[in-house]
Amino acid sequence: MATENVVIVGSGPSAFTAALYTSRANLTPLIIEGEADSTKRVDIPGGQLMITTDVENYPGFPEGVEGPHLMSLMRKQAERFGTRIETGWIEKVDFTRKPFRLWTSEKEYSARAVVLATGAGAKFLGIPSEKALMNKGLSACATCDGALPIFRQKALAVIGGGDTAIEEATFLTRFASKVTIVHRRDQLRASKIMQEKARKNPKIEFKWNSIVAEILDVKTGKVTGLRLQDVHSKAESILPVTGVFVAIGHEPNTAFVRGAIDLDDKGYVKVARGTYTSVDGVFAAGDCVDHVYRQAITAAGMGCMAAIDCERWLESQEA
Ligand code: NAP
Repeated sequence: MATENVVIVGSGPSAFTAALYTSRANLTPLIIEGEADSTKRVDIPGGQLMITTDVENYPGFPEGVEGPHLMSLMRKQAERFGTRIETGWIEKVDFTRKPFRLWTSEKEYSARAVVLATGAGAKFLGIPSEKALMNKGLSACATCDGALPIFRQKALAVIGGGDTAIEEATFLTRFASKVTIVHRRDQLRASKIMQEKARKNPKIEFKWNSIVAEILDVKTGKVTGLRLQDVHSKAESILPVTGVFVAIGHEPNTAFVRGAIDLDDKGYVKVARGTYTSVDGVFAAGDCVDHVYRQAITAAGMGCMAAIDCERWLESQEA
């Protein structure tokens, strides 16, 4: 088994920017990207942009750009300078000795340096009916599933009050007869511009101060409605819907490095001095680190920082 200069784990903007910079530094990086899995929403290679429609806030695209197209451009650019890409889930790492070791279920990798850029994945409500109805009218990705025949011309619900919820609801109005955004407060967290868009959309309604007590109907094995509870009065009501999209935020994809490097209490990788993690030679960038900004452009910027940190660190090891 050859020892790689740099293994980059991930496939979003931070991973491909780290790959672009390290390949241009002649380090011939190896990217290990996850496999496609529509039930996990962001584990599609290419990261969260693969399930985003129009990206209007990535500089350089005055008319906006489709998320998947942006990712394919980043990929091509990194490949042009010698980045290699393999597919697989890293399940285990050994960062206690050098070179570092990383394992998928099928293969072992050896690397002088590692860049972690695994992003974040969708959070779920954690109620039993949610698990039971997953992919039976319940989804965490409107862009992946919204156009399915079961959702066409039907009343749908989106859970959440952030940009993702608004984006998903707006997208779903292309197919649905009506979309109700169910939010646990009476104010949205989403950016003002996205809120305005949704409020002007005649197909979008809001159900405020409501939490989902149960997704109906586990007995019939398909979504028929939501049992909601008002957070103040505790009164329950039924919202009849044929589909429900959970859009309540994300959590970092860092389970495979738990115990190997320092994580914060929410599981995000702790970094200091730019992108240095608690293990010398292991760097981290993008949404697996950042729970504040979480934008494609900030992830790309951190990918660049990780590449520069990594290149300088490798040089220092040779001195
Ligand atoms: P978010 O901003 O963290 O919003 C999550 C929403 O879900 C919040 O409204 C939250 O309610 C609600 N929520 C969380 N846990 C819940 C639970 N257990 N039950 C019910 N509701 C729950 O996450 P996001 O919307 O995924 O956005 C993440 C980041 O990506 C943000 O920085 C956002 O700006 C960015 N983003 C940008 C775009 C774009 O610009 N096109 C699109 C999508 C996402 P509370 O408000 O009460 O906390």
